[in-house]
Amino acid sequence: MTRTVYVNGTYLPETEATISIFDRGFLMADAVYEVTSVLDGKLIDFDGHAMRLKRSLDALDMAEPCSTKELLDICRKLVELNGIDEGLIYLQVTRGSDGDRDFVFPAEGTPPSIVLFTQNKPGLADSPAAQKGARIISIDDIRWGRRDIKTVQLLYPSMGKMMAKKAGCDDAWMVEDGYVTEGTSNNAYFVKGNTIVTRPLSSDILHGITRKAVLRMAQEAQLKVEERLFTIQEAQAADEAFTTSASAFVMPVVEIDGVRLGDGTPGPIARRLREIYLEESRKAAI
Ligand code: PMP
Repeated sequence: MTRTVYVNGTYLPETEATISIFDRGFLMADAVYEVTSVLDGKLIDFDGHAMRLKRSLDALDMAEPCSTKELLDICRKLVELNGIDEGLIYLQVTRGSDGDRDFVFPAEGTPPSIVLFTQNKPGLADSPAAQKGARIISIDDIRWGRRDIKTVQLLYPSMGKMMAKKAGCDDAWMVEDGYVTEGTSNNAYFVKGNTIVTRPLSSDILHGITRKAVLRMAQEAQLKVEERLFTIQEAQAADEAFTTSASAFVMPVVEIDGVRLGDGTPGPIARRLREIYLEESRKAAI
């Protein structure tokens, strides 16, 4: 099916959507993005994603392409036009272009580019991958120093996923100075007893919207949360581990660098948190 997408104020078939070859998103990865999930045809944590988008734009001195209310209307319209019940909405804002390639930013007032499209993912919440759990490898984190800004510089995370695939695994956790930063496209956690351990927020990691919600729900469920640095060895010795992201919610991790966690199946705390997250998010969806 040909999707209807949104480009700079217009809804049109994906086959007719175009962006300038001089757009700085294309030439310089001068762009930020957000991925919001859709369950029951409704948006999960739209406000969180809209707030982080604003934070990313501000950090890069990039203009806001439209108001949060307009953004919500666009997302809802795309969900409706494409008949999405379960899936994702991808949103990208770039610094636009003033018609040439230059390292210097375009003149003030140059309009940003904004693109949104949907991805239809029936069965997203009831995913077989989550029932099996993910097998993880560790790789060096060689990304730039502002990972808290959600830019489209995804080459290394993409290479990381390919390294995992080549090793017969599902994903990679990145390690810097001996400590886990995060997954290629998710935040990373391990569980020991009643305690969940995850790296504290800083410019070293993306401030996951799902992370924030899951940590709150974990505390409400009387689990202890410890935000501190941790190593791969500590995670390997844990009872269980998991990742969080808007596109995979809470994903149990069952193996790290060839070491099985527990009995090699998703742990009870990760499974419970996934259930709670899905239930609460569905209730609060707009
Ligand atoms: N870290 C990285 C590097 C990511 O790419 C993502 C997902 N885009 C996350 C963490 C998780 O963030 P969120 O829960 O907002 O999807």
